[in-house]
Amino acid sequence: MIYQRTIASIAEVTGIGIHSGKKVKLRLVPADADFGIVFQRVDLDHKPLIPAKADNVGATENNTMIGSGVDAVHTVEHLISALYGLGIDNVKIEIDGPEVPIMDGSSISFIFLLKEIGIRNLNKSKNFMIIKEPVLVEHDGKWAKIEPAKNLSIKSTIVFAHPAIKVQAKEFVFNCESYVNEISRARTFGFMKDVVYLKRRGLAKGASLDNAIALDDFKVLNDQGLRFKDEFVRHKILDTIGDIALLGHEIAGKVTTYKSGHHVHNLLCRKILENPQCYEICNASEISPAQERSFQLPSDVLVPV
Ligand SMILES: [Zn+2]
Repeated sequence: MIYQRTIASIAEVTGIGIHSGKKVKLRLVPADADFGIVFQRVDLDHKPLIPAKADNVGATENNTMIGSGVDAVHTVEHLISALYGLGIDNVKIEIDGPEVPIMDGSSISFIFLLKEIGIRNLNKSKNFMIIKEPVLVEHDGKWAKIEPAKNLSIKSTIVFAHPAIKVQAKEFVFNCESYVNEISRARTFGFMKDVVYLKRRGLAKGASLDNAIALDDFKVLNDQGLRFKDEFVRHKILDTIGDIALLGHEIAGKVTTYKSGHHVHNLLCRKILENPQCYEICNASEISPAQERSFQLPSDVLVPV
């Protein structure tokens, strides 16, 4: 039996938003079973609760924003990806600003934090979304699909007319340990030629070489270079996991993406939710031992009840 998880104690982290450039504090608070992942904007008078759900995504330009109007949180994808990566189902995320801190541009800082405070099983079965029929979405030459499969896997292809990227493809079969080792350290990236345009649109105000891979027309500008030869497509997989985790369940399905971004990922989630014949929600007693294994954690992370 595999149980729903929350964090073992309260954790706090401070950083800046990559788009807003604003300093923000996150406070992660343990939550009960079936609470889900819910943000709370504690800087606003009415302290709105904003569920991290695919049907609550409000904007997808260069980041995934949940909520609407001022009751919103931007750039949730790397934190949500880290929580899914460690199989954490329930946590309240108090935030005193409009955007999740970018940390180093990957999800590894959140992984370190979550592992340090520990993870606790709750006394209720995890829920799984088992994909039964293929779902495909396309937009502007970009596409994503999901098909039935025993476990979650993601095959991403990215195409950039840049000598440091070109075409990169990678298939990743999800399990918690591989997520930490192969995906969580991959950073977001951006092109210097886009900076003026992005800043004019109020984006990338906090971007720097400390929180993103930066590229000029020819090469990577960061002194230390890349963390993986194919770090770009690994980050695409990190983002994809963060975006489809907003379905709100552990997912058993094979995801394939081509030139996709947050918008296409959200279209895929919404189309799945709009077509209930395409999936089934099961609890842990109905899944196979192999499916269960993909959510096993290293023993040092789990805190006994
Ligand atoms: Zn990203």
